[in-house]
Amino acid sequence: MAGLRIGKPIWVARNRERFALTYPRLTGSHEVDVAIVGGGMTGCTIAALFARAGVRVAVIEASHVGAGSTAASTALLLRELDLGLVELTKRFGGRKARRIWELSAQSVEGLVKLIRKLGIPCELADQESVYYTIDRAKLGELRAEYERRRRAGFAATWLTPGALRRLTGIAGQGAIHTRGNAQLNPYQACHGLLRAAVSAGAAAFERSPVTRIDVERDGVTVRTARGSLDARQAIVATGYATPGFQPLVGRFRMLHSYVIATAPLDRGERRELGLDRVMLWEAARPYHFARWTPDGRLMMGGEDRPVVRGERRAAAFRHGTESLRAYFETLLPSLAGVTIDHAWEGLFAMTPDGLPYIGAHRRYPRHLFALGYGGNGMTFGFLAARMLLEQWQGIRSADHRLFAFSR
Ligand SMILES: Cc1cc2nc3c(=O)[nH]c(=O)nc-3n(C[C@H](O)[C@H](O)[C@H](O)COP(=O)(O)OP(=O)(O)OC[C@H]3O[C@@H](n4cnc5c(N)ncnc54)[C@H](O)[C@@H]3O)c2cc1C
Repeated sequence: MAGLRIGKPIWVARNRERFALTYPRLTGSHEVDVAIVGGGMTGCTIAALFARAGVRVAVIEASHVGAGSTAASTALLLRELDLGLVELTKRFGGRKARRIWELSAQSVEGLVKLIRKLGIPCELADQESVYYTIDRAKLGELRAEYERRRRAGFAATWLTPGALRRLTGIAGQGAIHTRGNAQLNPYQACHGLLRAAVSAGAAAFERSPVTRIDVERDGVTVRTARGSLDARQAIVATGYATPGFQPLVGRFRMLHSYVIATAPLDRGERRELGLDRVMLWEAARPYHFARWTPDGRLMMGGEDRPVVRGERRAAAFRHGTESLRAYFETLLPSLAGVTIDHAWEGLFAMTPDGLPYIGAHRRYPRHLFALGYGGNGMTFGFLAARMLLEQWQGIRSADHRLFAFSR
């Protein structure tokens, strides 16, 4: 795999080889209703929903909009959560599990609808997904997951080994086939959502790390090295708890995930691979996953591992991306002759029970949080935006408690 653009996500590599800089630094003092810390997919979705609802918001991004985990994302928009419905039921009970699953499906639909309504160019496409196992010992569990989804009213089709092979080229044991999912270019989507927010009156700042948030009687003052924002409320959308929120840091487990992508494949090469235009993900944990880009590249991801720092990081990157390639060559043997020309790593945050934290925390008055999405950040980011807008508007809902810190 010599000559790889190590570490540069495909979305950015295609974007004139660098992250775009669009917004000014925060200088001087400003006043808004809500200050949103973090300009990733979550912060920008929150900004779009709030600004379109008439709330005066500002997004403050430490580096570049969309350059965090959002740029590393493979952006499968799955109504299914990383936690299967069987596992979710064990952890939260049948009623809550079903509601969480429903909210996740509604988030995919809501995000897709919003992006279409705003006309954001981001390679958004409806897509089907295939959740497979190659492990005979896991077939019973996958079948139980399928039955549970069907009983709960979530549409799905069971794929026998023959049907799985015809659709994906994989010699597996069985799979769940789901319609109604989608995929997009996360970097473009994030920028498009922020543009929509700005058109609706929002302000945005880049290269402006927030250094402190002071809580006052009527609001907060969000401070950066060169400026400040007075707001009635701060929303923290930094992906996970940053050191400024030390008491919350222990709630997040940070993982690296790796992605490789092929050069664009022509129709003949794609046919030889045998994988139709569906998104693939595996029923094992941690899982592997793959999807096509509109220009015919196959993106493959997985090999999650706890964060490695310093000198060992490069070796972990090499090992992770080589393991990815080996796994997918076993799965789809004709990949052996195909050029891989991009590889990168990204960071994501897991919470102890696998659900994000959306809402207030008793230690931090006038703060709302939207953190810790695991592998479902694109859709949970939309859910966070919707729920936080409700909370800002004073709407109470039992759904909010499902994702509260105090759940
Ligand atoms: C390899 C990989 C593949 C993934 N695939 C999928 C997928 O297929 N589907 C899916 O749904 N999800 C996926 N995810 C998860 C998803 O990408 C993330 O959950 C999502 O992008 C998180 O968005 P975010 O805005 O919360 O965080 P980020 O994009 O990380 O944004 C947080 C921002 O906060 C900024 N920030 C931090 N501290 C400060 C500060 N003090 N002041 C100002 N700004 C600050 C950062 O600079 C950053 O830009 C994947 C993640 C990875 C790593």
